[in-house]
Amino acid sequence: MTESIVSIDSELCTGCGRCKDICPVGAISGEPAEPHRIAASSCIVCGQCVQVCSGFDSSLEEYPTGRQQRLRQRGMLDSVSEPLFAAHYRGDIHALLAALEDGSTSTFVQCAPAVRVALGEEFGMGYGALTPGKLAAALRALGFDRVYDTTFAADLTIMEEGAELIERIQGKGRLPMFTSCCPGWVKFIEDQHPDLLENMSSCKSPQQMAGTLFKTYGAGVDKVDPASIFSVAVMPCTAKKFECARPEMDASGHRDVDLVITTRELAQLIKHKGLDFLGLDDEPFDNPLGCYSGAGNIFGTTGGVMEAALRSACEVLTGVPLGEIELEYVRGGEGLRYADIVHQDLELRVAIVAGLANVRRLLDEVRRGEADVHFVEVMCCPMGCVSGGGQPKPLLPAQHLEAHAGRKSGLYCHDKKLAVRKSHDNPQVKKLYADFLGEPLGHESHRLLHTDHTSRRRA
Ligand code: SF4
Ligand code: SF4
Repeated sequence: MTESIVSIDSELCTGCGRCKDICPVGAISGEPAEPHRIAASSCIVCGQCVQVCSGFDSSLEEYPTGRQQRLRQRGMLDSVSEPLFAAHYRGDIHALLAALEDGSTSTFVQCAPAVRVALGEEFGMGYGALTPGKLAAALRALGFDRVYDTTFAADLTIMEEGAELIERIQGKGRLPMFTSCCPGWVKFIEDQHPDLLENMSSCKSPQQMAGTLFKTYGAGVDKVDPASIFSVAVMPCTAKKFECARPEMDASGHRDVDLVITTRELAQLIKHKGLDFLGLDDEPFDNPLGCYSGAGNIFGTTGGVMEAALRSACEVLTGVPLGEIELEYVRGGEGLRYADIVHQDLELRVAIVAGLANVRRLLDEVRRGEADVHFVEVMCCPMGCVSGGGQPKPLLPAQHLEAHAGRKSGLYCHDKKLAVRKSHDNPQVKKLYADFLGEPLGHESHRLLHTDHTSRRRA
């Protein structure tokens, strides 16, 4: 069910219509100045309505529902002092607090790339301030037993998705191949275009890959019973709350991810616990599942998955590394863009879609067999995950573009500073294959890291 994840509070909704305008799937209806509604059956849980909503619990007005009651209804901490907006998502912080306080549970956490360039905003830092060290330190101070990183699994995704693309180019599977790391996009295809499901990569998203490794490889490394691990993901994304609950995400015999909280929820928890975020000394993520490359890191913005894939695919397929790995021709903003890649004897044509509303023309071309492309990256949110529904919410509409641009440049800046910048060079990914998984698309990789996508279209 999606209605319990993103919803509109009719008491607070002013009917401004911003949510209806931004919703990429037309899931919101309502008359001007009247409370709006979300159709759960078509909502893809991207949370963009939450980012733009203007109706909030002004202290000048009386509402039948009191603030503390509203916080509880939303699953939020009593200490949260920020305005409560009409469009909101379900909070999951109380379940996390219970797990952190349960002495019999081992708490493993992962953080998506886009979190480290946005969390600082909640503590007065500028847009795009880069805080991976403070993020790891804060999570450790909150009591997590292992502080791992989704970015490791982004590198792993490149290994698996790259191998899958090569197989398809060699004739084993349908082209173009669609990326599968954005759960809003996956749900959209399952809901509205199930005839194109074969184009979707079978890779799980990095979040789910990391989660399944926590309870298999990670449990072995740490010598803990996988059944005792509580697997938490900190995400810029509200759709990840939906994804982690998908019933099929338990190939290891355990839930890949038990709980997802957003960047904003993490900030609220840090404040609730009285941690001085700005005063924290930088700390590293734990190894082995916290080691990452610059390529994995840029997954957090539009074009990042494509750039990471090309950095590896061009080298692996031709044996010759790219001369320049900062691929400006796949970078960009909201919209649909194409790029032609010629490297040695390799020729690829790719498409990048930022903002789900921009994908429809391409899907029509794919359906008609007229899309002359091998690989398509789709991210639902306007600038990819840096602009996700669970990120800090800029209060003024004019601040959105500034925030997204700042976070995006923070990711590229981080990439430049990292010693390893290609996913296939990540030493811990190599070790994982050598010690545990075997090879990309091998039996164990397939069992744990891939999934089947199925139609959700109602008859
Ligand atoms: S979460 Fe996304 S899809 Fe759902 S109503 Fe809001 S904008 Fe539309
Ligand atoms: S673009 Fe990123 S934040 Fe937005 S729905 Fe997709 S995965 Fe979530």
